[in-house]
Amino acid sequence: MNPFSYSHPDSLQAVLNSVAGNEGAIRFIAGGTNLLDLMKEGVMEAPHLLDINGLPYNSIEAAPDGGLLLGALARNADTAYHPLVRERYPLLANAILAGASPQLRNMASNGGNLLQRTRCLYFYDLATPCNKRRNGEGCSAIGGITRQHAILGASEHCIATHPSDMCVALAALEAVVHVESARGKREIPFAAFHRLPKDRPDIDTSLAPDELITHIALPPADEYRAHSVYMKLRERLSYAFALVSVAAALDIGADGAIRSARLALGGVAHKPWRNAQAEAMLAGNRPDEALFGDAADFLLQGAVGQGANDFKIPLARNAIVRALLAATEGTAMNTGENND
Ligand code: SF4
Repeated sequence: MNPFSYSHPDSLQAVLNSVAGNEGAIRFIAGGTNLLDLMKEGVMEAPHLLDINGLPYNSIEAAPDGGLLLGALARNADTAYHPLVRERYPLLANAILAGASPQLRNMASNGGNLLQRTRCLYFYDLATPCNKRRNGEGCSAIGGITRQHAILGASEHCIATHPSDMCVALAALEAVVHVESARGKREIPFAAFHRLPKDRPDIDTSLAPDELITHIALPPADEYRAHSVYMKLRERLSYAFALVSVAAALDIGADGAIRSARLALGGVAHKPWRNAQAEAMLAGNRPDEALFGDAADFLLQGAVGQGANDFKIPLARNAIVRALLAATEGTAMNTGENND
């Protein structure tokens, strides 16, 4: 590991003042569950680590509009087990508990979950070129080992996937990311937070280098509470990233018809994958396996494998149908909790 300095300011102003003008030399650290690995491997360097754990962003609070405000520094475990999250957003609780391990969830922060980097093998292997590590070097995954890689939204420069489970649920719930810098505050809709790789795979998000995530706002979603499912398919049940995951939420009326639907995929692209038209296909219809298959086909339009990951296309179709059928049956808590 390269040498680095460390500070632990206890006010937002002190943090923002430290960052202004020093963006390239400073990295924020909260749980550190991904950043420290990356620093130890030499994938990322941080001349100065700014510990933000002293800031007052570790609470989970009800919002006046009926939604929730998740502090960026609240731990993933505290979020997943919080009574308001479990009651109002079981989709999110289940997605968080499907990820990582209990130890990691105890340490990892909500803001850090959004900012975790891909687990592409080549990204971590300094002996191989990688455009995400250093743009312009080339992509070693293309033509290489691609079992975990993208089938949607990839580019000739990068075919990596985003590793988060939590973010797939946040995409389906249309969360809003609140950020702050010395230049002021802004809110980023979740769909605009993560980027597709295009010709700059080294840039994962739309967050500016001087911006700090303070909160993640969840809009009210009571209509989806009774019929939401997070389904994660992976190589093994313990401590593995998704080959494909599905966040499915249905608003089913008293007449048995779907009023609206949310559907997001993980493990298939550089960001959680949604398609508003696929969701609109479900509205106004009764839950039905054939209908779910049609929506899955629409959502997977344009999917392309790299050979070794071609199986993800039918796997994703089947997972979407299964998740929607399960959501129709009703929400079940902690269906995929990883306790190992
Ligand atoms: Fe790097 Fe992306 Fe290619 Fe992986 S897929 S080697 S992260 S450029």
